[in-house]
Amino acid sequence: MQELPGWETKARHLLECGTYLELDADGHVVKSNLCRERFCPMCQWRRSLRVYGQTQKILSFLEPQGLAYLHLTLTIPNCSAADLKAQCKWLFWRSAALFSDRLYGKSDQLSKFCHFKRSFKGVLRSLEITYNPDRDDYHPHLHCLVAVRPSYFKGRDYVSQETLRLLWTGYSAGMFGDPPDGLWQVYISRIKEGERNNAVAEVAKYAVKPFHMDLDIEGYKKVLPVLHEAMAGRRLIQLFGVFADAARQLRINLNDDQEATSSQGPTRKFSYVGGHYREVF
Ligand SMILES: [Zn+2]
Repeated sequence: MQELPGWETKARHLLECGTYLELDADGHVVKSNLCRERFCPMCQWRRSLRVYGQTQKILSFLEPQGLAYLHLTLTIPNCSAADLKAQCKWLFWRSAALFSDRLYGKSDQLSKFCHFKRSFKGVLRSLEITYNPDRDDYHPHLHCLVAVRPSYFKGRDYVSQETLRLLWTGYSAGMFGDPPDGLWQVYISRIKEGERNNAVAEVAKYAVKPFHMDLDIEGYKKVLPVLHEAMAGRRLIQLFGVFADAARQLRINLNDDQEATSSQGPTRKFSYVGGHYREVF
């Protein structure tokens, strides 16, 4: 980041991230110089823990409704750096359409498969972008946690993975003439009771883990600006239906990474010097 023109400030923010922390009596961070840059490993780690905890709270809140959950992954063909921003935009628009009523109109022959929407009670949608250095292309995709009525699996509203794939890809993917494009994929699986925590963690993980990409300096210099541009101004996590309602009632904003504002009582201040945190008096 230090070697990228115009990224000097970001690089300094990352370098200094978390060197000052102020904790309340419960150990919560109430003040800090955490940088909140999207690519900061420390801030990403904190964010994924926070989203994980908040999502668990939402699921507990919804418990009385007796919902079942699906893990749905929506993908589109890999794309070049030049197309990534547009592809992400399309992915967001298209998935919002899939979860709302405006996917296919009544006159459309695909509308007869849209009954599944009666059972989809809520969706938590999270963006992930991976990069393939061998092909030099990007793979934006969405992880979704879907709340359904328990009767979904045996009822009339059930859709198979193949049907959902058809609805997701529409006419571009085969059934009505065009050659199928194998890279359009939809993966859907039921989340068993004991696997729910793993599924939440999968959805809560951060959008890109650039420093896990195992690139050399030249690779990073190429990839970071592309990812930054594609993600700029995007809400990485969005809620629909019962998830959105629950978050509103619980006053949870999954995209807000500020500390708890009110600190009552005494705090302890720490600063990171010479490889250790030391209390500052
Ligand atoms: Zn940071």
